[in-house]
Amino acid sequence: MKNYTRNIVLQPNEMPDKWYNIAADLGGKMLPPLHPGTLKPLDGASMSVLFPDELIRQEMSGERFISIPDEVRDLYAMFRPSPLYRAVNLEKMLGTPAKIYYKYEGVSPSGSHKTNTAIAQAYYNKIEGVKKIATETGAGQWGSALSFACNHFGIDLQVFMVKVSYEQKPYRKMLMNLWNGKVEASPSNTTQAGRNILAQHPDSPGSLGIAISEAIELAVSDPATKYSLGSVLNHVLLHQTIIGLEAEKQFEKAGDYPDVVIGCFGGGSNFAGISFPFVRHNLDGKTKTRFIAVEPTSCPKLTKGSFRYDFGDVAGMTPLLPMHTLGHDFIPPGIHAGGLRYHGAAPLVSALVNEGIVEAQAIDQLECFEAGLKFAQAEGILPAPETAHAIAATIREALKAKAENSPRTILFNLSGHGYFDMYAYQLYLDNKLTNFIFDDKMLEGIEGKTHPVELAFR
Ligand SMILES: *Cc1c(COP(=O)(O)O)cnc(C)c1O
Repeated sequence: MKNYTRNIVLQPNEMPDKWYNIAADLGGKMLPPLHPGTLKPLDGASMSVLFPDELIRQEMSGERFISIPDEVRDLYAMFRPSPLYRAVNLEKMLGTPAKIYYKYEGVSPSGSHKTNTAIAQAYYNKIEGVKKIATETGAGQWGSALSFACNHFGIDLQVFMVKVSYEQKPYRKMLMNLWNGKVEASPSNTTQAGRNILAQHPDSPGSLGIAISEAIELAVSDPATKYSLGSVLNHVLLHQTIIGLEAEKQFEKAGDYPDVVIGCFGGGSNFAGISFPFVRHNLDGKTKTRFIAVEPTSCPKLTKGSFRYDFGDVAGMTPLLPMHTLGHDFIPPGIHAGGLRYHGAAPLVSALVNEGIVEAQAIDQLECFEAGLKFAQAEGILPAPETAHAIAATIREALKAKAENSPRTILFNLSGHGYFDMYAYQLYLDNKLTNFIFDDKMLEGIEGKTHPVELAFR
């Protein structure tokens, strides 16, 4: 055995007992969400149809560290602290002088990082007496994480699952059903938002934006039902920081520190989770770590979108959020990384992109699948197609280190495993997957659909 550490273990009692709220360190750089009717900054009261009070408090909090309730930590302890591995075999395969570490979130019951916030959100709903939750899911990862958590806390769950994923990933739906989640393919004819889309586009593959509209409509129309979102919002990103806080401790044990931190990017939650605790030290001026958010070229909100006020959903039912967006009615092509098919981006990450602290990269579908397969062959774990975007960027960075003959320490987040994504990998192996060329014409008219950020200062 070589005497380097492949698996940096944290003991159960070393699990962090607080989440890190980066809003405390961004101060004046954050713009408020706006009420879509009045175009004035949103107050907590108008969010209470959708969310329990404690989540609204966290959404608006300026407190740097927020305690993780014991009941949440107890459930986290089923799979946390999660492992930090050194990808020694991948390093060898690439012949790189770089050190590659990855944090493995596929150990959670539903197989991704989403469980970190699902447990917290279901818990706060339960203690405030909520009986039913409505939500959306893209690839099915969020729906299954929340089904697991709601089932544990005795809450009914209605999931609107993006139609293309519903058809491509029947076993994800089945997993939700096994945890007592009810699932509708979206657009569905059970909501006005769904019926409107179907009237115009009967063959719509659906999108996260449409599914969010359907779930919100259900929550707003039924006083007993709240709504839950799996990404984008501040409180969701807050819950995910347990990933990076653990990684920080694990790096301390390994006697190392990342020069580059990489995460794939859908709405921003797993990227925020792995990166924010390290971003904090850059904000303090103590480190100069690089942070790379990786999105699909077919849905390039960070690299090609505009920083504007826009809705989080297609029907325009959410507050207006200051974010990088492709326009709320943008329907991304049906790529096999369903969790990345979202038109917008977390306001917290958008602000860090504007500050030049976070870099964004867009990578094509085929390069990602190739990277996912390489990783599986080297390290044994099959990554989710979403995660494969982070791996493709990691491989690019490791090969750059080789070309420049300059070592560096890379950390990426293995946000979830791909064992429910066999159909997609089968298509890849059969040469049936293609890249999508993003047509810049799709961005025309975005000004008319969104609002300039100056609105916040009026
Ligand atoms: C949902 C999902 C993503 C994308 O969502 P973020 O909020 O950007 O993290 C990435 N990876 C996996 C495995 C997912 O399930």
